[in-house]
Amino acid sequence: MSKLGIYIHVPFCLQKCRYCDFCSFAGRENEMISEYVSALCRDIRAWKERCRGYSADTVYFGGGTPTLLPIRDFDRIFEALTESVSLENGCEISCECNPATADREYLGALRQLGVNRISIGLQSANENELRTLGRIHSYADFVDTYRSARAAGFDNISADLMYGIPEQTLDSFGHTLECLTSLEPEHISAYGLKIEEGTPFGKMRESLPLPDEDTEYGMYMLCGDYLAARGYSKYEISNFAMAGYESRHNIKYWRGEDYLGFGVSAHSYFGGERFANSRDIEGYIRGLDISDERRLIPPSERITEFVMLRMRMCEGVSHSEFYERFGEDFEGLYGERLSRYKDMGYVLTENNRTRFSDKGFFISNYILSDILDF
Ligand code: SF4
Repeated sequence: MSKLGIYIHVPFCLQKCRYCDFCSFAGRENEMISEYVSALCRDIRAWKERCRGYSADTVYFGGGTPTLLPIRDFDRIFEALTESVSLENGCEISCECNPATADREYLGALRQLGVNRISIGLQSANENELRTLGRIHSYADFVDTYRSARAAGFDNISADLMYGIPEQTLDSFGHTLECLTSLEPEHISAYGLKIEEGTPFGKMRESLPLPDEDTEYGMYMLCGDYLAARGYSKYEISNFAMAGYESRHNIKYWRGEDYLGFGVSAHSYFGGERFANSRDIEGYIRGLDISDERRLIPPSERITEFVMLRMRMCEGVSHSEFYERFGEDFEGLYGERLSRYKDMGYVLTENNRTRFSDKGFFISNYILSDILDF
């Protein structure tokens, strides 16, 4: 059987964070959740035939805030999933969770349903930074939710952090790292804040007191060094894990493996084809086809895509795998363009692999756009 990852998007939040451009709707959960879940289940069942020959080894509930779903709705989704796709024993089943949206009883019920990994959005342990971001919770709420997840039996917990927050300093970021690592989650994701068009932060872009680039670089380096000293290995540009706790689902994205996304704005890569749903939640509920990008990736783009995704990972590009897939010599194609970045220590080639160094990751978008011509 071929392996498959499944992503399920839950686009509801209690309040919109000021930096967020994810597909999530605030304040509509009561009127829409039940109908949305019915649409999700219908969509999942419609894939039953095409999923023959596949077994799912990862399922990921992302959002939005999946923990706004009543447990009976998770039940309905699991019923649709088990009817339609074979779920492997030992399947990694992750659920994103916002602090203050799930108590011990709720998390225990999720665990009973088979969810075995919880990813909790912390972002910062400093109250002023949480308020600036428009988060709905305090640091104490995060600790409560974290402890409830442990008490409910979760032995695989991830937490999200953010650096580059307005008025954040190296010290305040260090405080967040110290608070979080004292709890010993198995996995940590740390993202640099991006100011997106159309968000409240996007509208205030010019007046936001963002840390300067040197400070942001300092935070990025501090994060890697601090986490490495506490037993977390970096395995992707923004992801760190204790040994054996890397996110198997997210690794599928970066390795170009098959996954199916259900729900508004969900993306899929299946049988060499990429497709995505739009954000039209009313249309999705009504059963309309809301896919708005569907195309086979032409061979020329597959190389670019492969390099972009693999270079996000610390393992980088294996030259022999590159040759097996594309019949081309990686060094022959990119060696010359990469040479100045290698000289500056941003890119390393050793043991038949090319990858970014720590400082190279910080400017990886720039380097990739330079060598891949986009
Ligand atoms: S909780 Fe997450 S998805 Fe919801 S608004 Fe905040 S950042 Fe966006």
